[in-house]
Amino acid sequence: MAPVTRIAGLAAGAMLLATTALSQAYPERQITMVVPFSAGGPTDTVARLVGEKMSEELGQQIIIENVGGAGGTLGAAQVAEAEADGYTILMHHIGMATAPTLYRELAFDPVTDFAPVGLVTEVPMTLVARADFEPTDMASFIQYVKDNADTITMANAGIGAASHLCGMLFMQAVGAPIVTVPYQGAGPAMTELVGGQIDIMCDQTTNTTEQIQGGTIKAFAVTSPERLDILPDLPTTTEGGLPGVEVTVWHGIYAPAGTPPEAVDRLSTALQTALADPEVAASFAELGTAPSSAEDATPAALTERLSSEIERWRPVIEEAGVYAD
Ligand code: ASP
Repeated sequence: MAPVTRIAGLAAGAMLLATTALSQAYPERQITMVVPFSAGGPTDTVARLVGEKMSEELGQQIIIENVGGAGGTLGAAQVAEAEADGYTILMHHIGMATAPTLYRELAFDPVTDFAPVGLVTEVPMTLVARADFEPTDMASFIQYVKDNADTITMANAGIGAASHLCGMLFMQAVGAPIVTVPYQGAGPAMTELVGGQIDIMCDQTTNTTEQIQGGTIKAFAVTSPERLDILPDLPTTTEGGLPGVEVTVWHGIYAPAGTPPEAVDRLSTALQTALADPEVAASFAELGTAPSSAEDATPAALTERLSSEIERWRPVIEEAGVYAD
C-alpha cells in the first residue's frame, strides 16, 4: 500500500473508532426536545409524558423547549437548523405534513431536513365551545354556526396547527367562513375558551378531555371514526352530520437530518420503551388516546407516514385555497 493511501486508511479507521465511541456514549448530556407550540397545550402534554419516560430509559434528562408561533413552523425550523448531534430533537404532529402545502415559502423541508425517529400517538379531536355557548347538541350547534358565522370567533394555534386544519374542514362542511383567532398554541387558546373570550375551537382530546369532564367547556362531537370510551356521550362528527370533519392527529419525533444513525436508533428504542410503559398508556387513555405500537415508533414508519400524509393533504389544502401567505 502506498504511504499516502495507508495514512488515509489509518485516518478513516480512527474516525470510525471515534464515531463508534461517540455513539456508544450517546447520550452524554441532556437532550432538548422542541415543542413547536406553547406550554400547557396538547403537543406539550404528549411531549412531557413521553419525554419523562424516555429520560429514564436514556439516563439523561430530556428538557422541553416551547417554541410556539406560525402553526408550529418556527419550532420545526429551529430544529432543522440545529446541530445534528442527537441533542436537539422535535416533537411535532400532522402539521409537519400540511406545512409544505400551506406555507408556499417554508424555511425547511420536512422530508429532507429531518431524520424521523418514530410515531408517538394518534389523538382524536373534539368540537368544543365556551361553557355558556347557546347550542346544546350537534344539530343546534351546526345551525347556530351557520346563522351567526359573521359574529362567532374560532380559536386555532396558527396556520398549519391541527386546530387550524380541523377548523378549515369544519368551515368547509358547514359552508360558513368564521372569524379565526390564532394563538401560539392551544394551551393559551383553551385558557381564553374557558374564560369565555372566544366562542369555539376544534382541539385534541389531550387538551379538552379534563375541561369537558369538568364542565368548564361544552363539547359537541369527536372527530374520530368511533366514539371514545372516555367521552361516550359525544357523537362522532359523522353521526352528527359532518362526515368531512374526520381527523386524528398523529405525532412524531424527529432529529435534524445528518444525526448519526446510532443516536436516532437509540432515541427510537427509548421511545418504544416509553410507549410500552403501562403508566404512559394509562395517562394517554385518560386523555382519550393510546401510545403507538413498537413497529410504528420507528424511523421507517414515521418516514412512510410523513410522505403519505403530505400527499394526502396537498389536494385538500389546494382545493380549499387556504395558504399561510
Ligand atoms: N397541537 C395544537 C394544535 O395543533 C397546538 C398545541 O399543541 O398547542 O392546534
